[in-house]
Amino acid sequence: MKTKPKEVRLLGVMYKVVYFDDIKRFDLGAVGYIDYESRVIGIWEKLNIRDTWQCIIHEALHGISNDFHMDWLEKCHDDDIDRLALLLINFIEENILNGERHNKR
Ligand SMILES: [Zn+2]
Repeated sequence: MKTKPKEVRLLGVMYKVVYFDDIKRFDLGAVGYIDYESRVIGIWEKLNIRDTWQCIIHEALHGISNDFHMDWLEKCHDDDIDRLALLLINFIEENILNGERHNKR
């Protein structure tokens, strides 16, 4: 996670990642959105790399719940999806990205 991606693959489908500057254009000042039709994930450009990835995971969770019709996830409050995204990014960082370092201890 060293750079902000230009695209991400979600369940085999490529999503273009675009970075927007005007946060006020979107409802409630949201820092991210996902457009299922045009396969675009939009992220506020001011976010740092880690927050960008957290936001992408957040939007990917929306995408997964949409594609799989996961009602329980669709009903989740956005704050809870944020917490889930934070948990997942922590897990990825601690076990996958830093896995080799941990295993050497
Ligand atoms: Zn959301």
